[in-house]
Amino acid sequence: MVVNKPQTFPEMKKLSLILTALLVTILFMNGCSESAKHSETPPAEHVKEEYQCPMKCNDAKYDKPGTCTVCGMELEKITNG
Ligand SMILES: [Zn+2]
Repeated sequence: MVVNKPQTFPEMKKLSLILTALLVTILFMNGCSESAKHSETPPAEHVKEEYQCPMKCNDAKYDKPGTCTVCGMELEKITNG
């Protein structure tokens, strides 16, 4: 007895389709959670402005322009980026 007719497995085909869909769903969910994780920490677009004495009398940093409390010189703007 020789079987020449190629057998088709509709059930197998169905299963592989479901597995593919499942895989895509998992990948999609992973991508979603990954992007959500990123969106939790917004990019530091806002550069903090700080002011410091040009003579660096002390390590004090000021968040507003003004004069050094030690030597009275005008504070220099420094940017931390
Ligand atoms: Zn100073």
